Amino acid sequence: MATKRKNTAHFVSKGTAAAVLPYFLGALLGGVAVWLLMSGGERMAQAPPVSPDALAPPADFVWSEHPEPDFPIPPHARFLKDVKIVLDPGHIGQRDPGHGWKRGPTGLREAEVNLRVAQYLREFLNAAGADVVLTREADECLDLPDKEDLRQRAEAANREGADLFLSIHHNAADDPSANYTTLYYHASPDHSPASLCAARYLLTGLDSALRLDRQVGCALRSDYLHYPGEGFAVLRHARVPAVLSEASFHSNPPEEARLRDPVYNRREAYGLFLGLARWAQAGLPRVALVRPRQGKIRAGTEVLISLDDGLSARGGGGAENLRIQADSVVVRFDGTPVPHTLDRNRRQVRATVPQSLRGRCTLSVDFANVFGQHVLHPRIGLEVSGR
Ligand SMILES: [Zn+2]
Repeated sequence: MATKRKNTAHFVSKGTAAAVLPYFLGALLGGVAVWLLMSGGERMAQAPPVSPDALAPPADFVWSEHPEPDFPIPPHARFLKDVKIVLDPGHIGQRDPGHGWKRGPTGLREAEVNLRVAQYLREFLNAAGADVVLTREADECLDLPDKEDLRQRAEAANREGADLFLSIHHNAADDPSANYTTLYYHASPDHSPASLCAARYLLTGLDSALRLDRQVGCALRSDYLHYPGEGFAVLRHARVPAVLSEASFHSNPPEEARLRDPVYNRREAYGLFLGLARWAQAGLPRVALVRPRQGKIRAGTEVLISLDDGLSARGGGGAENLRIQADSVVVRFDGTPVPHTLDRNRRQVRATVPQSLRGRCTLSVDFANVFGQHVLHPRIGLEVSGR
């Protein structure tokens, strides 16, 4: 195992003195030049010694070594304020059928790890002002049939109108060496582009926090890979952006040992949190129906929808411009794209209800903002009548 480099600055060792000399000379000459230029004649602070860490080749650092635990809330996490997030600790409340169900090789229960990570993540998110709900609070059996259990988890997110539903899990495989991160979305990439956006940021956050050695070619996966045509029930029932995280494998013996450690669980929660903070920073676009106001409309007439890029309301330079990619705007009625007109100044889009439509239908308006973030809740229900 490679030795860990220390983060603290220290004096240069003998072996690297020759390499460091030009830097010292450069710093010395620079310091003299600045001193000569300063009219006030103030004394410059002494330059700190150069740490060997600053000069080491990149390969000298070991990715899988974790830094000291340190969980500050970054300034961009403020964009999470009032964002509604439902966290689902996987398997908490479910019946344990025995036979080592969802347990690691020495008996660690996946459910208990999922709950710890969810609770830590809630702490981070609350500290940033997010509105967080957990689907399950206590590690006790609810004695529900599995189908009902899974439906209720997603239903909690639907009821809240959550901006994100995140189901937290840990993976298992017959091969004990398997240990990597995967994030799951439901069905096809087109089913919910906003879910993919969240999954991308969550993946990068987890990668940085857990520092697993192994990477799969594509860590964003459809749940159809496991259940073709159905997917995972928790994602299938969700009518809001939904992602299922499989951060690592509890079936991998060294990983199971790490997952027992609450600090490691907190690292994972922090990784998810940093991902979510970046996700929120990139803007969370929304749409709203302007006309018809009550959602009732005649076929052949126009709908008017307002667009919020998730960024402009923050003000600042360029806030007067709608920050979306015009080509990314898509308007659909019951899944079929229709022509539309984009008015950038009014931040609105218009489209005509197809003549053939009758009864309850779904209008969907999606676009990508400058960060590639898609509309969180693109679907709007309409009641269409004949002429
Ligand atoms: Zn699971």
